[in-house]
Amino acid sequence: MTSSTYTCQCGARLRYRQDMERRPGGRHANWVCGDCGLPVPGGVAQRLRHQHPS
Ligand SMILES: [Zn+2]
Repeated sequence: MTSSTYTCQCGARLRYRQDMERRPGGRHANWVCGDCGLPVPGGVAQRLRHQHPS
């Protein structure tokens, strides 16, 4: 399985779901950068959510 990363505007590299923070909101939970709180694009967050450090 290939792993994807997302580089936030603050420079943080997000790779696992614990690198993001879950913000409950509306019908869909919003995922934000764990460092700065900027929202992570939905498609990216969905991929990262399934990645865990083994
Ligand atoms: Zn950030």
